[in-house]
Amino acid sequence: MNIALISHDALKKKMVNFAIAYEPLLLSHRLYATGTTGTMIMEATQLEVHRFLSGPLGGDQQIGALVAEQNIDLIIFFRDPLTSQPHEPDILALLRLADVHDIPVGTNLATAEILIRSLDQEGFIKRDHSQND
Ligand code: PGA
Repeated sequence: MNIALISHDALKKKMVNFAIAYEPLLLSHRLYATGTTGTMIMEATQLEVHRFLSGPLGGDQQIGALVAEQNIDLIIFFRDPLTSQPHEPDILALLRLADVHDIPVGTNLATAEILIRSLDQEGFIKRDHSQND
């Protein structure tokens, strides 16, 4: 599966801890992240993460492009609900595209854990990336 990982600054530690906790599971998936989130995950784990630009510089939009091309199966996006973000329009655009393409999105730890644990279960929609590889 292709999984996108994004976290706002106040939640980066939570994202790193999430990646550490689920590292064995995440190892068998293709990971994408916004710049700083991806760097912090790679520093704390053995995970290979394809890193895009930092979110405020366009990273969310780059991940949105993958979503539009049906190249993302799951988004874990720890949003900061208490701080306004300069790139709020980009964030909304990404979430809108996820809904357009019916991609599961976990915007908090509780939902992320449910989603990540369901990855190997039957019924989780697996996108066909073969045409895009
Ligand atoms: P970052 O971007 O991982 O580069 O900090 C995340 C965001 O703010 O959208």
